[in-house]
Amino acid sequence: MALKYVTEGNFNNKNVIARFDFNVPLAKDGSGKITDTTRIDSALPTIKYLLEQNPKKLIMMSHLGRPDGEVKMKYSLAPVAKYLAEVLGQEVLLTESCTDRGIKTIIKLNKQKLILLENLRFHKEETDGNDEFAKTLSEYGDIFVHDAFGTAHRKHASTYQIIKYFPNNSFGGFLLQKEVEALNKIVEKPAQPFIGIMGGAKVGDKIKIIEKLLVSVDKLLIGGAMAYPFLKASGHSVGKSLCDEEDVKLAKQILTSSLKQKLVFPIDHLCSESPEGAATHINQLDIPDDKMGLDIGLNTIKKYNEILKSAKTILWNGPMGYFEKENFNKGTFAIAESISKLKAFTLVGGGDSVSAINKSGVSDKISHVSTGGGASLEFIENGTLPGIQALKFGVN
Ligand code: AMP
Repeated sequence: MALKYVTEGNFNNKNVIARFDFNVPLAKDGSGKITDTTRIDSALPTIKYLLEQNPKKLIMMSHLGRPDGEVKMKYSLAPVAKYLAEVLGQEVLLTESCTDRGIKTIIKLNKQKLILLENLRFHKEETDGNDEFAKTLSEYGDIFVHDAFGTAHRKHASTYQIIKYFPNNSFGGFLLQKEVEALNKIVEKPAQPFIGIMGGAKVGDKIKIIEKLLVSVDKLLIGGAMAYPFLKASGHSVGKSLCDEEDVKLAKQILTSSLKQKLVFPIDHLCSESPEGAATHINQLDIPDDKMGLDIGLNTIKKYNEILKSAKTILWNGPMGYFEKENFNKGTFAIAESISKLKAFTLVGGGDSVSAINKSGVSDKISHVSTGGGASLEFIENGTLPGIQALKFGVN
């Protein structure tokens, strides 16, 4: 069954209830200032489209932070309501809680078209996927829109259970559509050569996706701290580099696969005595005992660029080194720069990779920068997500 998107819905004179991901970072000083509005901005095309369809009310819902089922006002959606009102040029009414008895009256009587329900995660029923809670939320609307791609991998009340109450009246928003279409290019028949680039710190978190990707990629380039468990598992010394014994075991397991020849590892490194230190080029596989690997070396960059040159599809997740430090950002920025110049479909996903791409200043030359870190990885692993399945097939 095909997923229905908002362009297929009839929202005229209806109460529309829509789930967004407004989980934005707030300033640590308690001022309620939003430090990065990207997540709200990514929802604007859907919000604006819905408003153009002349709905009775648009009731928006989201979570913010991790209040763990308790009302903690530092996680109030008030700053989001304020920002939305500014960019949309109309009032946004923030409810006191998302289960207020008065909400139905507000929806019926209040003049504001835009209503934002207070943080869903002030109620533990949200993350529990509680059915009664989902039913309560569903009663605010005649029609449901899901545009929270970043939480579509969760079976939460507002991202999954609620769909049960809109069996023929649930639609994906534009952000969800953009993410699904881009990720499908990776999951279904990617144009070949298909080159994966995996970096970052933890093999454990990414082992399933590495195993899955090895089937479809032509080559999988490994960088960042992810490389050291593999090097250690192959009998090389990694000095003081970040290298968890559990990850070495997982790396050994991957290296028994018949697909292991698709894996490509660094051939040189930038090292130091500590993450704060100056970079020393180590032009060999083995890292001396008193040093830690903090970036891929120049020869590795050259080798990886050579492999990437012919790629038609590129998936990148995880930085090539400790890129937050200037001494160790060269590998990450060099790879960012070279993939931005290729005539290939390039997809970058996962929190740190996205900030690395932004820092390197080439994000506008990447075909798709995925906003949902965990969600995009899970999509690549399973070819879909629970929230998307629910939109397609409903919830029993
Ligand atoms: P992940 O969340 O697994 O993508 O890991 C991202 C983090 O890994 C970033 O904060 C990087 O700075 C860090 N990282 C990548 N390579 C290294 C390295 N060689 N040594 C220490 N940290 C690294």
